[in-house]
Amino acid sequence: MTFVITERCVGIKDTSCVESCPVDAIKPTLDDEEFDDVDHLFIDPATCIDCGACVPACPSDAIFAEADVPDQWKHYIAKNAGYFAKAC
Ligand code: SF4
Repeated sequence: MTFVITERCVGIKDTSCVESCPVDAIKPTLDDEEFDDVDHLFIDPATCIDCGACVPACPSDAIFAEADVPDQWKHYIAKNAGYFAKAC
């Protein structure tokens, strides 16, 4: 399982979640060159340890456990994972 960032992050990119994550699973950070090029942040499913700390940190309520992602945002599961597949 993993956690997933969804539509409510688009255009917001608050980054409070980045600071809350104990394993640096959320990218890009404000220091990353690609920060301005993405429309929302992403969680690496291979790094996420399912702690849930990012959920209350998000002011947009954009983050869900994979199993709880609302139907209309299910495509964000692949979108989050795909971001890191491209980075490899
Ligand atoms: Fe990081 Fe925990 Fe959120 Fe996974 S659930 S992205 S490990 S804060």
